[in-house]
Amino acid sequence: MNCIRLASILLLAALLPVTRPALAQAPPPPQADASKPQPPASVHSFDLSAIDKSADPCTDFYQYACGNWMKSNPIPADQVRWGTFSILSERNRYLLWQELDAAAQGPQGPLEKQYGDYFAACMNTGLVEQKGLTPLDPALKRIAGLKSADKMATLIGGLAAEGAGVPLFRFGVGQDEKDSSKQIAQISQAGLSLPDRDYYIVDNKHFQEIRKQYVEHVTKMLILAGDSAEQAAKEAASVLEIETALAKASTSRTDMRQPENRYHIYTVAGFEKLAPDFDFSIYFKDLKVGSFDSLNVATPDFFKAVNELIAREPVEAWKSYLRWHLIHGSANNLPKAFFDESFAFFGKTLAGQQEPTPRWKQCTSMTDRALGEAVGQDWVKKNFPPAAKASMDQLVAALEKSLGDDIGTLPWMSDETKKAAEEKLAMIRNKIGYPEKWRDYSALKVKRDDLIGNLRREEVFARNWNLNHLGKPVDEKEWGMTPPTVNAYYDSSFNDINFPAGILQPPFFDFTIDPAVNFGGIGVVIGHEMTHGFDDEGSHFDGKGNLREWWTPADRKAFTERTDCEVNEYNGFEAAPAHGDTPAAYVNGRLTLGENTADNGGLRIAWQALLDALAEQHKSIDDKIDGFTEAQRYFIGFAQVWCENRSEAITRQLVLIDPHSPGRWRVNGAVQNFDAFGKAFGCRKGQPMFPQNSCRVW
Ligand SMILES: [Zn+2]
Repeated sequence: MNCIRLASILLLAALLPVTRPALAQAPPPPQADASKPQPPASVHSFDLSAIDKSADPCTDFYQYACGNWMKSNPIPADQVRWGTFSILSERNRYLLWQELDAAAQGPQGPLEKQYGDYFAACMNTGLVEQKGLTPLDPALKRIAGLKSADKMATLIGGLAAEGAGVPLFRFGVGQDEKDSSKQIAQISQAGLSLPDRDYYIVDNKHFQEIRKQYVEHVTKMLILAGDSAEQAAKEAASVLEIETALAKASTSRTDMRQPENRYHIYTVAGFEKLAPDFDFSIYFKDLKVGSFDSLNVATPDFFKAVNELIAREPVEAWKSYLRWHLIHGSANNLPKAFFDESFAFFGKTLAGQQEPTPRWKQCTSMTDRALGEAVGQDWVKKNFPPAAKASMDQLVAALEKSLGDDIGTLPWMSDETKKAAEEKLAMIRNKIGYPEKWRDYSALKVKRDDLIGNLRREEVFARNWNLNHLGKPVDEKEWGMTPPTVNAYYDSSFNDINFPAGILQPPFFDFTIDPAVNFGGIGVVIGHEMTHGFDDEGSHFDGKGNLREWWTPADRKAFTERTDCEVNEYNGFEAAPAHGDTPAAYVNGRLTLGENTADNGGLRIAWQALLDALAEQHKSIDDKIDGFTEAQRYFIGFAQVWCENRSEAITRQLVLIDPHSPGRWRVNGAVQNFDAFGKAFGCRKGQPMFPQNSCRVW
């Protein structure tokens, strides 16, 4: 997995890092000890009881397909969004917990002992309480000992070497976007605690209030760490000042989507000139990264700004910043007082979560992130039958054919570009279920009585694993998601689509149901991932995964006109209403363009694949089951994958950081752009879901 670019994923799991960054990012909201694990409800494909029959599908299809579901499935207190997706994730997490709990109590082999101990250390909150802040003492002492700003690199490198990395920037190894056969060093912006740079920059009452509460929160955390109220307030002000400067120097998420904006090859000497006051040679040495003489600097201006900040800010301010990040980064695994305070701000205020996530869920997810391919080996044996893989292979082949047919008939694309697109499509590789070769975790030392130590060693282990790729041939068999994950992704440098075992079950995929529902579920997901190879970002990469223009200028222009249509359309979709001083929040059509293009393309090509499959079986799209035609069942099956409720706070956060539109617009946006929908439900041309003019890219 490239350290700079995140692959295009199907769904952003709210606040949980799906792919591993080279350095620690802001942690997920903290969690608390709580209730006994319960097996969650099962999810069905095509749920008649979810439908709101009082709604008109031609006016608001999402309300029709999901209205009753939304009414009868309020957000549980420990969640910030709740959808059919979440229920499936919770189910997988429960099954994983069973494995971990059994392994923690009586491991059968060395691998089980390793993940069992990792889990057990996380569950032992009594010991966490007893240890207090002592596990952080060595790192806190190092920070307190910083004498001058020119020793920053030594300090940050030393902390990272011990697994106590402070995320001022992100460094790691990933594929060269212009030569995907090479794995090179890459460095990029980071260093913020709030979810996006907008939280620091946007000047309205909503964000001013959040910033005020953030400073109060930092102050409280530092008081808990032993500082006087006066000292803590001063430190918190420094934290906000440094982070605001970093935010202003950061490239926006939308601009980072354009590959050329994040591709700047520098010699190491040239890079060091960008930030002469931070001695990167010391930092690289501390990380024990192999030798390299050039690297990709995703965000050169950010490093110039870091340098100016190092020169400008007093050393005491930097110590405050580093001290804060160390404590904040460990808050989930410190005594309850830290944990609760961190939850109150990052969980409740920022995301609208009412109660902390139970500890067993937190520890299950943490173990999955750390040792996912160890736990996953046993998990797939129980939960992923070989027949599921065989069915998926068939479905993927059907979708590939359908996308090929679609490309072949596009009226706006020249034969030359069509040929190149077809070549790229033929080169997409498919990975289904779980890795052929599991990651070797034997170098990771786990101690049952040392939670923070385990996290430190795991950080070092994961970083070494990543840095070891430097200069090596690319291993196409590596995965960026663990097997129980309910998600999927496309990676533009690998040019591959990836479907973890976790998603290959209802409501996405059900052996026992009619094909229309499966094509509307997993079929659209497969089409979605394939279309990512041809969205506003993926279309800049060729079949080998190299950033290279393979379009004629006229075709690129025609493509951009089409994507601009989608940008304008989705910009008009309201995500959260205005109230008081708080303005309405809208979908960001540019940030979500790739996902919207993939949703629209996926819905269209899975439909065509369904028509082909029905024709082969001599069945008709108008055949009825339970009072619905196959056509209607296809669209309802698609919509019900996205039934969800979200807290207003998380909605407002996600429109800034999530490249996916909210469920309502993933559904309504895609169906209103596809005439087959209006016809299937007998809508009149001009109704909201069957408009006169619509957008189409693929
Ligand atoms: Zn996607």
